[in-house]
Amino acid sequence: MLGILGGGQLGRMFTVAAKTMGYRVTVLDPDPQSPAAAFADVHLCAPYDDVAALQQLAQCAAVTTEFENVNAAAMQQLAQYTRVSPAGECVAIAQNRISEKAWIRKAGLPVAPYQAVRSADDIIDKTSLLLPGILKTATLGYDGKGQRVIKTAAGLHIGMSSLMKDAPFILEKMLDLRAELSVIVCRLDSERVATFPPAENIHENGILAYSIVPARLPETLLRRAEAMAKQLAETLNYVGVLAVEMFVVGDAAQLVVNEIAPRPHNSGHYTLDACASNQFEQQVRMMCALPPAATDLLRPCCMVNLLGDVWGADGSEPNWQPLLDEAHTHLHLYGKKEARSGRKMGHFTVTADTADAAFTQAQTLFAAVCRG
Ligand code: ADP
Ligand code: MG
Repeated sequence: MLGILGGGQLGRMFTVAAKTMGYRVTVLDPDPQSPAAAFADVHLCAPYDDVAALQQLAQCAAVTTEFENVNAAAMQQLAQYTRVSPAGECVAIAQNRISEKAWIRKAGLPVAPYQAVRSADDIIDKTSLLLPGILKTATLGYDGKGQRVIKTAAGLHIGMSSLMKDAPFILEKMLDLRAELSVIVCRLDSERVATFPPAENIHENGILAYSIVPARLPETLLRRAEAMAKQLAETLNYVGVLAVEMFVVGDAAQLVVNEIAPRPHNSGHYTLDACASNQFEQQVRMMCALPPAATDLLRPCCMVNLLGDVWGADGSEPNWQPLLDEAHTHLHLYGKKEARSGRKMGHFTVTADTADAAFTQAQTLFAAVCRG
């Protein structure tokens, strides 16, 4: 029996992978409609810090998480009773942009120029060097939430009060992004570590829209991105699946680490349909102390996110027929009842002879879905 903290779409795809491999799964998620619970053997429908539920999770042969905003202390406690991966300490680092950036720098890797802003008094002369910048809440931000573009020092105060009063923030310089990449690392130990091919990510309104693989960037840059992601996992002595988001900056195509996620990642969904193994199978393998499976890309592909926005105003489902008619397209739906704007409802992946062809076809199919 494997346990997972969180039962959203990542937990759902983890559960499917684990069940396929013959494991049983216990999901802890307070949502009675948890997408993962639909597949799980046991659904502990309770808060993430519920003592009785955590005691039951402690009975599992191994425990993992599908998101970073779990109680890291609870994970550390669980580790006294069972195998927990990734370690609660690593999850805690990824929970806070201030500690996260510090760790990335400690690993010897570049980050965007930034400053921690714990209160309005923290704003110092250096601020102007970071403008125009992006103010991000240090915790609980995702899909571009908890962020404001800041152009002037006065705007900083307004940005802070409009986000959350007195919360810690980071102010980060706005970089000239030429592309965005992510690398999924699967690490058991220093010898047994693998990366999936870097994905080229296109965001819309701060939310991932497309992942294209292979990324349409120089081979040397991609190998460097993989090496950097491995180096970060090594520095953290990370066990599990780690996603590393990177920026390709400026004319010199400098690689800068943006953020990490201590779990499978939206930009790794392409692995489900285009690789020799997938990121959720790897999550199972890492938590069971099995070596990583092969990560080869079998065919160029493009993954497209399906947000609640493409559902009808009355909650009606889009017309999937154009996707379903297409032989090289795989539709994934997460079983969420309520479609809200910006909510991740599903995704689809197109495979083709080249990354460009996959991207073009993905855009055409997406437009067809939107037209209804
Ligand atoms: P989230 O946790 O919401 O994913 P990110 O820090 O990854 O937050 O930011 C979301 C997106 O906003 C990034 O993928 C990128 O497109 C854009 N972004 C974030 N930071 C910067 C920056 N310093 N310069 C330029 N664009 C940025
Ligand atoms: Mg991000």
